[in-house]
Amino acid sequence: MTLSNRCVKGTVVPPRLPDSRSGFVIDTHELSRRAGMSKEVTLVAQAPADLGIEVIGVPPGSPVDLDLRLESVVEGVLVTGTAVVRLQGNCARCLDEIASTEEVDIQELFCYPGKETDDAEALRIEGELIDLEPVLRDAVVLELPFMPLCRPDCAGLCPECGANLNLDPEHGHAEPIDPRWAGLTGLTELKTEPKNKE
Ligand SMILES: [Zn+2]
Ligand SMILES: [Zn+2]
Repeated sequence: MTLSNRCVKGTVVPPRLPDSRSGFVIDTHELSRRAGMSKEVTLVAQAPADLGIEVIGVPPGSPVDLDLRLESVVEGVLVTGTAVVRLQGNCARCLDEIASTEEVDIQELFCYPGKETDDAEALRIEGELIDLEPVLRDAVVLELPFMPLCRPDCAGLCPECGANLNLDPEHGHAEPIDPRWAGLTGLTELKTEPKNKE
């Protein structure tokens, strides 16, 4: 890796630089320290591991389409745009596999090294490189549904026998399987009976 120190003069280059082999690390060399300059970046990177939550996530190695605009501002480089990720998981109701794509918005300011900032968690440009992986991670995890559904009106599973009700909409049980419910059903019928007759 070759590094130009032209634009980081007077600042300490941190010992650990973003790994430029990662598809999410972008060189900001052309923009460095020239406020007002911008460039469009479109690229496809491979999804990192562990991107997601228990029920749904982005398969490791699947393509992530990044469509970004890098803009040089006084404090650093502002990155805005979108990332399109593949999602894989299971429906919370019927447990069927879900495969879909999700577009997430990306907006992050990467500050120049040594630049004062109020935000202690602000990301930094290191050696003219910015690493979008943590940005993507935050954006994707925020978008993920805690109860992913195969479709909004998923009918789920039969509570009595576990059959997938999407595949068998007419599904039903004539007699309650559990005899303990039989008594209860009788009670409801008794209560509603006089009402019906009136
Ligand atoms: Zn479902
Ligand atoms: Zn059933």
